[in-house]
Amino acid sequence: MFSLTKILVLVAIVLAVWYGFKMVTRLQKERDRLARERGEELKRDRKGQPRRVTAEDMTQCAVCGVYVPQDAPKCGKPGCPQG
Ligand SMILES: [Zn+2]
Repeated sequence: MFSLTKILVLVAIVLAVWYGFKMVTRLQKERDRLARERGEELKRDRKGQPRRVTAEDMTQCAVCGVYVPQDAPKCGKPGCPQG
């Protein structure tokens, strides 16, 4: 049988779940935003310091096998067909 109390409890539970879901979604969005901002900062830092190039920023010249920075796909070596 339905009673007002049962309905109120049900509504309270639904609201609690809904608010909880909303809060989790908001926290996740906030975390994603922070992670994205951090990633962009790291990228900026790396761009600002071109001398500190890590392995993941390097790409191999397909012709002569020399590792060159990713933003410069040509190795620039004399005699290399790509450079
Ligand atoms: Zn090359």
